[in-house]
Amino acid sequence: MTLVMKFGGTSMGDADRIRCCADLVHKHGGGRSVVAVVSAMSGTTDVLLELASAAAAGNRAVSHKLLGDLRARHEEAARTLGANATVAITALLDKLDALIAGLTAVGELTARSRDAVVSFGERLAVILMGAALGCPALTGHEAGIVTNDEFGEAEPLMDLTLFQLRQTLEPLLATSKRVAVTGFIAGTQHGVISTLGRGGSDYTATLIGAALKPDEIWIWSDVDGLMTANPKVVPAARLLESITFAEAIEMGWFGAKSMHPRALEPAATHRIPVRMRSTFNPECPGTLITDAATSNRVVRSVLSVQNAALVTISGATMVGRPGTAARIFDALARRGVNILMISQSVSEAGISLVVSGSQLDRARAALDAQLVRTGVARELSVEPSMTVVAVVGSGMRGTPGVAARVFGAIAKNGINVSAIAQGSSELSISFVVHAESGHRAVQTLHSEFGLDQ
Ligand code: ASP
Ligand code: MG
Repeated sequence: MTLVMKFGGTSMGDADRIRCCADLVHKHGGGRSVVAVVSAMSGTTDVLLELASAAAAGNRAVSHKLLGDLRARHEEAARTLGANATVAITALLDKLDALIAGLTAVGELTARSRDAVVSFGERLAVILMGAALGCPALTGHEAGIVTNDEFGEAEPLMDLTLFQLRQTLEPLLATSKRVAVTGFIAGTQHGVISTLGRGGSDYTATLIGAALKPDEIWIWSDVDGLMTANPKVVPAARLLESITFAEAIEMGWFGAKSMHPRALEPAATHRIPVRMRSTFNPECPGTLITDAATSNRVVRSVLSVQNAALVTISGATMVGRPGTAARIFDALARRGVNILMISQSVSEAGISLVVSGSQLDRARAALDAQLVRTGVARELSVEPSMTVVAVVGSGMRGTPGVAARVFGAIAKNGINVSAIAQGSSELSISFVVHAESGHRAVQTLHSEFGLDQ
């Protein structure tokens, strides 16, 4: 019997908070084995990224200040948590000092050296958690996670990783019952430090879950779990007690503050339930994410993405011309523009895309150069200040009338819909409205589907 528990940065904010996490491990772990996966202390990863840039820019004043702040905060936590931690923390901070001195001297920052710098956040945090739990503390790489060398966003080599995680962690748990492991960081096959992308500690937890097949994976953060809507938009929003993996993944796409986008995959594949809970409200059982649907509601949640822009490429020149969509996506991908939603009518005379408002200028420039000026499309129109609204729920699949209810309710409220998309998975329906109607659209649908009850 095993549990994997991941603790996010705010739960690791200082020595007291780390002690609370350790108490939760003991309280819920009991006689079971527990792997505690830790994030860096809140804000540390951002500070380390700033530090790496300051070093590369040769800005000694800034790097000196940031190093001093990191040292003060971690050494103070270590003093509170015990003598052994202090020695280890100081030694690690000295290594960080040396690395920063090296980067400053070279005046250059690669994705690989940036990963080396940010890895210190979790490496420091795991020592603190190891001290609080009185257990072994390992880096993700020492535990067995091996990745490709896409530094900054590395992908685990799955079979090898799962095999090695079992080889390392099972014997350790058999003797000590508790093991602390860094989230987020791993290593390449050549032993070079890599990271799994921002928020990657969730991914570490589900990888370890996939390897050890625990009863559940608990993601402890500062939110109670997934909600029927953003409570800032809908005050009557409720916590979802349980939800399926497919729904949770779909909600993640729409920006529900949940998890690292790839994190749910290993858990879903290996059918390990994931529970989201808050260390700030530990009595709340949180949201359980499982394989099987536990609700007969068609719609589970209403979400919105604000500050979106609607881009429409049109012209009869596009009709019946294979490769037009490919050119659009290619033009945007080359400029690093992320597409949030796509819609095309069967007439093929227009394709509408939604991008984040912050990427609108780049999207417009790319499409203008690659499609309009090459004559592939006739016209490019953009509408900034839009909101994407999405209703999510696996019960929609094969249930007639959900779209009619969604758009009926929206129409009754006098809200104009600018574009619509529904994937054939039928897990969600998304549509675009003007920003000023965004909140009202979410509120309308939340009550239309009775999500406040
Ligand atoms: N510390 C890393 C970050 O802030 C990883 C994590 O917290 O999951 O992105
Ligand atoms: Mg984090």
